[in-house]
Amino acid sequence: MSSSNKKKPLRDLQFLPHVIVIGGGFGGIATARGLADRGVRVTVIDQHNFHTFLPLLYQVATAGLEPADVAYPIRTIFGNATNVDFRHGKVKEVHHATNQIILEDGSEIDYDHLVVATGATASFFGIPGASQYSLPLYSLADARRLRNRLLLSLEEAEVRALSGPITLNFVVVGGGPTGVETAGALSELIRLVIKRDGLRIEPTTVHVILVDREKRLLLNFPERGSAYARMELDRIGVEMQFDRIVTEVTDHSLRFADGSELEAAAVIWAAGLTTVGTLAHTLSDEHGPGGRAPVTSDLRLVGSQNVWAVGDAAAIPSTDGFLPQLAPVAIQSGKKCAQNILATINGKATEPLKYRNKGIMATIGRHAAIAKVPGIGIIRGTAGWLAWLGLHLWYLVGFRNKIRVLINWTWRYFDWPSGPRLIVADAETAE
Ligand SMILES: Cc1cc2nc3c(=O)[nH]c(=O)nc-3n(C[C@H](O)[C@H](O)[C@H](O)COP(=O)(O)OP(=O)(O)OC[C@H]3O[C@@H](n4cnc5c(N)ncnc54)[C@H](O)[C@@H]3O)c2cc1C
Repeated sequence: MSSSNKKKPLRDLQFLPHVIVIGGGFGGIATARGLADRGVRVTVIDQHNFHTFLPLLYQVATAGLEPADVAYPIRTIFGNATNVDFRHGKVKEVHHATNQIILEDGSEIDYDHLVVATGATASFFGIPGASQYSLPLYSLADARRLRNRLLLSLEEAEVRALSGPITLNFVVVGGGPTGVETAGALSELIRLVIKRDGLRIEPTTVHVILVDREKRLLLNFPERGSAYARMELDRIGVEMQFDRIVTEVTDHSLRFADGSELEAAAVIWAAGLTTVGTLAHTLSDEHGPGGRAPVTSDLRLVGSQNVWAVGDAAAIPSTDGFLPQLAPVAIQSGKKCAQNILATINGKATEPLKYRNKGIMATIGRHAAIAKVPGIGIIRGTAGWLAWLGLHLWYLVGFRNKIRVLINWTWRYFDWPSGPRLIVADAETAE
């Protein structure tokens, strides 16, 4: 072992309680950080060897950022922690009776405490063709796949336009923050690519269409917030259709409950989340909303003494139902979970999570955003956008702790150089 390696030898850790944290997202990282250099042995397991900063995925999908700008190796995060190890792999089963987890490669690992921080995934609501033909945005591979599809569609349209007039529709399903952010960035990208990369297709023949079953955007904001988002999206060329219930997705179109059909070169799915089909859903027979694992207010799985769940995977009770699936909830629940595991090991009482609401925000294109901040109210326009930018940079830079990243990210975001517009496919992102 080199002298710069701060890891304790495994023989020094083997008699300490073993905490396995499944998932290296916001929740899992916060939990493991809270346990770092404490009297436990920690193993973080993730199917990817990197943490993904999901709130900026849509910028990778719309060629504003490179994948590496929003991802960071989990091993590096814990490189200096004496007692935290990383294991690359996908966990397929939890055996409560024997306190063991089973990985997809068949290996079995024992735990004293288990933290499930496996996040959520896109919900297709059983709509025929939706999971097969639409493009969700929930992982780095999703973002790269979507970017490839968008850029390929523009290339194909350029060829088709040589033989006559064309129409090219990109349809975003879902008017929540992810749908609004993606539609806005996509519309700006398309106008910019056409102009800056010298495409010959007529910009007015390319449409970004956001459809939603509701009557307005951003249901978590007051109506004036929705109206503002609608005005801003309209300003940057996004077409919006409300009261539109998708009933089927095909390889080239969407069908709606009223029988109408809309052609689409790409359907971007931003319509909802679920944990059905993920490990969290298999933890117990009872489920919270969206199939989440039910936990008590101290984050312990209902009915268990040593299994915990945090972040998007967990149905965390709050005064008015359950906490939302947001990054601050994942971070705060991860921190509290670490404290409660240490308390349990030391024979002390656990504490409930007292969530500090940090508000919600969505950006609309590159110079407008809307934020709902507790105690302040609605912030919008350039002030909202600067607040959005500052907050994301804070979390990104605080996480990556490298000023170089801040400079690169800001430069790319403002300048849109050509790099992220490369079509690079691999086995994971090829269609
Ligand atoms: C596109 C998008 C934009 C968003 N924007 C915002 C925003 O602006 N503000 C905000 O507050 N929130 C936002 N969110 C929500 C926020 O990102 C989530 O609430 C947060 O990431 C939840 O953290 P988590 O740790 O619970 O799960 P995740 O961050 O999803 O991490 C889960 C981890 O578990 C791993 N994993 C899953 N299953 C297994 C398994 N079986 N074995 C091994 N590893 C596994 C995954 O690879 C992943 O690394 C956004 C989400 C998305 C998808």
